[in-house]
Amino acid sequence: MSANCPSCRQLDMAQSVPAVVHGGTSTGTTYSSVSGTAFTGSGVVPVWGGGVSTVRSQSALAAELDRAPARPRTGTGLGITGVVLVVIAALFCIPAVLTVSSVPPDAIFAAYVVGAFAMPALLAGTRAALFYAVYRSQKRLGRYREAELVAYPIWEAGWYCHRCHACWWPRQVAGHVPPGVAVPPPVFSSYVWAHWRG
Ligand SMILES: [Zn+2]
Repeated sequence: MSANCPSCRQLDMAQSVPAVVHGGTSTGTTYSSVSGTAFTGSGVVPVWGGGVSTVRSQSALAAELDRAPARPRTGTGLGITGVVLVVIAALFCIPAVLTVSSVPPDAIFAAYVVGAFAMPALLAGTRAALFYAVYRSQKRLGRYREAELVAYPIWEAGWYCHRCHACWWPRQVAGHVPPGVAVPPPVFSSYVWAHWRG
């Protein structure tokens, strides 16, 4: 097995893709303090604070070889909204039950029921839609993780030539990846993430 670049047939400028990415990526810690104002629902309020944050910087080449599709969102925010709606709907049910239990004898009972429970029913529809959206994002995230598991070994086995700005695989790593063929970095990424359909 040879790691020679298929384009220039040389080895001197070849490096494994993980080595290029690790060499071109640095992480550092910054300490910061902030003060200023923020807009909230109740107006402009002063904010202050400090924090430790991790800063990751990458060279253009490392970023090009480390390109991954955006990770889908988990839908946690939607889930929390759905739970809040469940609580609100439950609260609306209390006056609804009281209304229905004190229907005057000469009134149309069904009209009272529809009127009293209209709001909880409306909320139920909204939260059903929210929970369905959460379910969809979770499924999408699951598919992303599967694609990531397929992508990683393909990415890890890739090589890069600094002379030709080309990538290749010295050996067969997956059925859809041609070994020993020099490809530009964007094509390299598309082979790596071939199983992710979005
Ligand atoms: Zn080369």
